[in-house]
Amino acid sequence: MRRGTNLPMMGDFNQSVILDAIRRSSEGLSRVELVEAIGLSPQAVSNITRRLLDADLIVEAGKTGSGPGKPRTILRINPSGRYAIGVHLDPAVMTVVLMDLMGSVLHRRTQETPLGNDPSSIIDAILHEVRLLIDESGVDTERIEGIGVAPPGPIDQPAGTVVDPPLLLGWHRVPLRDALVKATGMPVLVEKDVTAAAVAEIWGGGHGSTQSFIFVYIGTGIGSGMVVNGEVLRGTSGNAGEIGHIVTDPGGPHCSCGLRGCVAVTCDPRSLVLEAEALGMLKDLRQRSGGTEIAESFLHLCTAAERGEPVAVEILDRAAARTARAVSVLANMLDVDRVIFGGPFWGPLATRYLEVVPASLLDFRAARSIHPVEVVSTGIGEDVAAIGAACLMLEQTLGPRADRLLLAN
Ligand SMILES: [Zn+2]
Repeated sequence: MRRGTNLPMMGDFNQSVILDAIRRSSEGLSRVELVEAIGLSPQAVSNITRRLLDADLIVEAGKTGSGPGKPRTILRINPSGRYAIGVHLDPAVMTVVLMDLMGSVLHRRTQETPLGNDPSSIIDAILHEVRLLIDESGVDTERIEGIGVAPPGPIDQPAGTVVDPPLLLGWHRVPLRDALVKATGMPVLVEKDVTAAAVAEIWGGGHGSTQSFIFVYIGTGIGSGMVVNGEVLRGTSGNAGEIGHIVTDPGGPHCSCGLRGCVAVTCDPRSLVLEAEALGMLKDLRQRSGGTEIAESFLHLCTAAERGEPVAVEILDRAAARTARAVSVLANMLDVDRVIFGGPFWGPLATRYLEVVPASLLDFRAARSIHPVEVVSTGIGEDVAAIGAACLMLEQTLGPRADRLLLAN
């Protein structure tokens, strides 16, 4: 059954609608323009903008209007009114960013993720990075809204825990959110890395807020974030978008799930490295297990492909076609108009994949005669998941979301 709302919550919602409208306008907006754009009464707009000015969330930025009538005062977001921290935990590398209210990254740090099976050493390392980030930035901690953390899935979002991610050994229902809240005293939210990346794309991708797209995330593992008509799909526990066990090659290698040729054993960087080793292209590194060695071998392989070495090109093209097959399953199911690739290992693959994937996708897509699907690289760069996690924290201040109006049970 749907829950209702009350007047104070309506007021908060209207406030976030106004804040969001001002943020989205590059030139700023006057009160009169806000009344026209949003449909609230002049009195309501005046009261709410007064509150936002008092809270330092917006500033008055000069006057406009040369014609008859009173000049209008322009309202803009105050970038330094609030900040948020975003953390991306990849099994190989962690990234922390500090973002202002306009979504600009002011500071960033990256560090190799500590090896070993002990979650507490990784949590300590995250805290260390967050503290250094805050110190280096010199911002007033009172203005930091909180920390958004993007770990690999699966997660239990309501509980704020990370549940047995395949590539973080020793992580079993780790209460990541509570550990960070306890250590920092700040609000913390946990979102799966791929979903955070999709949110960053909505905020900063410049593709409009009503579109439908899939974000294909290529990190140590491969996952997807899904956005339909501007809304992120999360599912019941925050784990929507798991594509690791879509079969791309029925005769391919055995997967831990019992099937053969899943995305998880045919498309991720490790699988490509193993394939290159089996074909005699790379020195055999199979005895080593660290993420760094895989990353190095993966880069060797991609560089060789860029040089035009036939075996390397063949491996990447095959992986691109397999990835396209998995992506087509989602593209058909959700009827999206865009596929965006990104993540820490996307860069070296981009040239070959952007050549192969669009054509392969055409072969598999159901709606190909109705509308095109654009295949693009993220415009946000390799920090996309950390940036998305920070955006999610800022959304709590900024974003007008109707689901926040519902009264709690
Ligand atoms: Zn599988």
